[in-house]
Amino acid sequence: MAYLSLKNINKIYPNGFHAVHDFNLEAEKGEFIVFVGPSGCGKSTTLRMIAGLEDISKGEFYINGNLANQWGPREREIAMVFQSYALYPQMTVYDNLAFGLSLQGIDEDVIDERVQKTAKILGLTDYLDRLPRALSGGQRQRVAVGRSIIRKVGIFLMDEPLSNLDAKQRVTMRSEITQIHRETGATTIYVTHDQTEAMTMADRIVVMKAGYVQQIGTPREVYFNPKNVFVAGFIGEPPMNFIHAHVEFGAIRIANQVIQLSELPGRDLSSYEGKDIILGFRPEAIIPGERENGYALSGTVELTEMLGDNANVYLTMGGKQTILKVEPYDIPALDTQFTFTVPYESVYLFDAETENVIEA
Ligand code: ATP
Repeated sequence: MAYLSLKNINKIYPNGFHAVHDFNLEAEKGEFIVFVGPSGCGKSTTLRMIAGLEDISKGEFYINGNLANQWGPREREIAMVFQSYALYPQMTVYDNLAFGLSLQGIDEDVIDERVQKTAKILGLTDYLDRLPRALSGGQRQRVAVGRSIIRKVGIFLMDEPLSNLDAKQRVTMRSEITQIHRETGATTIYVTHDQTEAMTMADRIVVMKAGYVQQIGTPREVYFNPKNVFVAGFIGEPPMNFIHAHVEFGAIRIANQVIQLSELPGRDLSSYEGKDIILGFRPEAIIPGERENGYALSGTVELTEMLGDNANVYLTMGGKQTILKVEPYDIPALDTQFTFTVPYESVYLFDAETENVIEA
């Protein structure tokens, strides 16, 4: 059994709301797992059940092979970082860091050594005498992280720890947390609604929607092999484009275009004859112009966004908005027609009814 094991975990709140359905996860020691999904999908609820802050309604939770459903938060030996740093406002940074250790009755010298070391890792050495109110948001967040890592626990839980920071601080803290994880080796579960954080930090990502796990996989797996339309649309920025299509007479028909199935080698759509499907392609997968080994589409340029190394192009095609990524020197003029090719190997096919990917 893995270090953390969640078996068919469910949460039904006292008001009867079923917030988490049959959540299954095996996390290895030292893994960095990210729960990602839109607001209200059950990420925090699941994290709080792992922390012991919320009862598990149904299912089993094991730590290192031991059934831990009834264990209190202390027994679980976890440290948790919340979105609202939860620092003691009347205590200095030093005391905020030292407090948890003092409670455990640890020797002053040992505490001092650990505070100094933690402060060094987090760049807080010059701020140890300050009160939290005299720190920036990023520095406060560092203290909150420091308070957790100083305890040397085996499990580190973080609930949207970067959401109060500005964009630049978020990027810095992202890499700092990854670095700290590497140094401490603690099994980490990190909750966010930001797919970029999930992609950049995770060993494995758990994508959730409305209380259900949609897919568990490495960043590469969820990006290249999404299991359904939801994961395909949630992972990747800008999101994947989707077009409704119909399979008829051995071909995919999209509006007035036809893709012969023989042109999509390895895709068996025989059972979809006469049915609707959804065709997906990533904004970054397209090639400007009309090319071979792909299907060409065109639309009217509505908006362009120059980002420096690349640019976003927003088109309307048949009344629907499509987003493309192009090189900066390929940016088309507004209100013109823009033609592009989606290479066949970059086409994703989904069942229109179940929204699950059509396996190759
Ligand atoms: P967010 O990113 O907004 O924090 P989340 O994915 O973490 O969202 P949860 O906080 O886990 O979502 O909430 C999941 C669902 O459970 C939501 O619909 C929420 O309204 C509901 N919920 C949370 N706490 C309770 C409660 N105490 N009683 C009833 N329903 C609750």
